[in-house]
Amino acid sequence: MLSKDEFVSLISKYNPDTDVALLGKSYDLSYRIHADQKRASGESYFTHPLAVALILAKKQFDDVSLAVALLHDVIEDSHLSVKDLSEEISEEVATLVEGVTKITTLEMHSVEEKQAENFRKLVLAMSKDIRVIIVKLADRLHNMRTLHFISKVEKRRRIAQETLDVYVPLVERLGIRDWKTELEDIAFSFLYPDDYLELQKKNNRLLKDGNKIISSCVEELQSVLKKASIECEIMGRCKTLYSIWCKIKKHSLSYEKVTDLIAFRVIVKDVEECYHVLGVLHGAYSTVPGRFKDYISLPKPNGYRSLHTGLIGPHNYRIEVQIRTQGMHEIAELGVAAHWLYKQRSSEEKMEGKRYRWMQEMLDILSNSRGGDGDFLKETKMAMFAEQVFVFSPNGDLYVLPRGASVVDFAYAVHTDIGNHCVSGAVNGRIVPLKTILKNGDQVSVTTSEKRFPSPSWFTFVVTGKARSCIRRYLRMLKREQYISFAKEMIKKEVKRLGYTYDEARLQNKYHHFDVSSVDDLLAKVGEGLVTKQAVVDHLYPEHLKDKKRTREDDILEAGYHEGDSAGEEGKPLLRGLIPGMVVHYAKCCHPLPGDPITGIVTTGRGVMVHHMDCKLLDRFSDVPERWLDISWSTSSVDNVEGMFSSRLSIVFANKIGSLSTVSSIISNEQSNVKDLRVVDRGDDFYRIVMDIEIHNRAHLSRVINRLKLSSLVFSVEKV
Ligand code: MN
Repeated sequence: MLSKDEFVSLISKYNPDTDVALLGKSYDLSYRIHADQKRASGESYFTHPLAVALILAKKQFDDVSLAVALLHDVIEDSHLSVKDLSEEISEEVATLVEGVTKITTLEMHSVEEKQAENFRKLVLAMSKDIRVIIVKLADRLHNMRTLHFISKVEKRRRIAQETLDVYVPLVERLGIRDWKTELEDIAFSFLYPDDYLELQKKNNRLLKDGNKIISSCVEELQSVLKKASIECEIMGRCKTLYSIWCKIKKHSLSYEKVTDLIAFRVIVKDVEECYHVLGVLHGAYSTVPGRFKDYISLPKPNGYRSLHTGLIGPHNYRIEVQIRTQGMHEIAELGVAAHWLYKQRSSEEKMEGKRYRWMQEMLDILSNSRGGDGDFLKETKMAMFAEQVFVFSPNGDLYVLPRGASVVDFAYAVHTDIGNHCVSGAVNGRIVPLKTILKNGDQVSVTTSEKRFPSPSWFTFVVTGKARSCIRRYLRMLKREQYISFAKEMIKKEVKRLGYTYDEARLQNKYHHFDVSSVDDLLAKVGEGLVTKQAVVDHLYPEHLKDKKRTREDDILEAGYHEGDSAGEEGKPLLRGLIPGMVVHYAKCCHPLPGDPITGIVTTGRGVMVHHMDCKLLDRFSDVPERWLDISWSTSSVDNVEGMFSSRLSIVFANKIGSLSTVSSIISNEQSNVKDLRVVDRGDDFYRIVMDIEIHNRAHLSRVINRLKLSSLVFSVEKV
């Protein structure tokens, strides 16, 4: 194990400006905290953070990254807090260590394969500084190198799978090629040990001849290029075991059939020369169709640039050739580390404030989805991470929700039934209100009850489309059920009146006529007044028409109600959530009353339109959430309003002399005025009317409704 002095002097070799004090302090603190711990290998635990730091040192990372590597497990393994660490070392190091620790804690949750994509996004989202990911990856690399010390086979397999699913794509994205191939090959050896050993045996045999083949190919390629006066360096290598295995699996090949086992790199001085080499090689050998790729004019998302081509090369071997400049080669091998080196070398970047701009640039590269293979961010851009939160269910499943999502949004994301019946939530073990806004990494659970149903007030805080539409659907369904049973009663009564026996089967056979998709749909339309009961009965029992002179009126479909002419009340300080000076209108479609659940819709040039939460018109605005305004009645005003609001009632009452005047006198006795009245349906024994009345507030309205219901002439009263 390296002593502190040996470690520091090793770093000083590549970075003469090394912060000796920082590295020394970090070394000592980590050593002290891990003093009593052992690794699975039996070694002192400190060998692990030291090894992680050395992995980074090999790529010449900066002092802060090295300090974070040394300290990456101290919060997890001790009572040391981020604040302690900040005081003892530095705030920057403490923040980064905290970032690494957060990701480590997440690993404790089981990560299913299907979740890997989300998990990778989560890792990115939580790593505001790219060095958090880099330290985490070096940590994983060392843990993979020592994975054979873990005795439980299942645990080894889980870690290996997670490495392939989560970390390899991240490394690939960062472009650190040797970390990627090493992680892949180790993971492969634990997940498919038989395949691994067999491939290794075959590959060793090939390598024996292979080295001969490689060197003779290199010689021939060199002489071909020399004839064209091209100065270059050529290297050959065999494919990694894991990539051969993937090819075998993907194309169901035998090992012997796998081509391009050997790949060559031609390194030249500039871009122009790259294309020159390509031309010469294509002239000298046959090309393999479909293998040419120009990553110079269209770099991979991780910044990789090269020309790739497939050739039937020397001795008729199928080979792959990659052509690039020295600069491109460094990026291909080191990825993000190469960027680090460049930036560190340029003195300009050392200026304060500019120092870490490269990280932002790297994050931009990561986020850029310019296509390319293995592009794990294909569909989701990094920018979106700012718009998302990642939370866990109690058993560790990961959910991605839009920022601002509440416990109710989470409940609906898990399952519609859970959303529809949720009672309360708990975040990280603490009971919280349903409207609580979730944060990255929260573990959320929800209690449900069969007796609880969605509340319109949820509309004021849910943000997901699913929650919105489920709540709206539920509320509409409730209303629909009422319509259906009402319509059924009306039709039964009418059928009986005509002297027939009501027969559900007739409805079942004939509802298609009305261009609806089910009996219930038809009944709902009748209940709502969109189709007259008469039209349905006529169609079900056409025989009665012979005896009856019909009037055209009976067939008229009421296609909705006329808009009343009440202009709505101008804004009074009744509402909370408004910007002062906003003009307020109360929607005429749904007549919201003080105390009703409401929402505001901002209308250009017309101020805010206040709608009832149940209002159907709101569907039209579901695509423009930015126009929704979260408003509510100010509590003091609900029962204490001076102005008059309008409310619309649907009333069914007996078709008897004087019954309409009874209804209107009940209303005027309750200090309300009738503003508008229309007959929607008329039977021999009942009327159905829609009436707009003036109302102070909800309590007033329910008083009016209750008085009406008490009358023996009134069959039903409903707010429309
Ligand atoms: Mn570790």
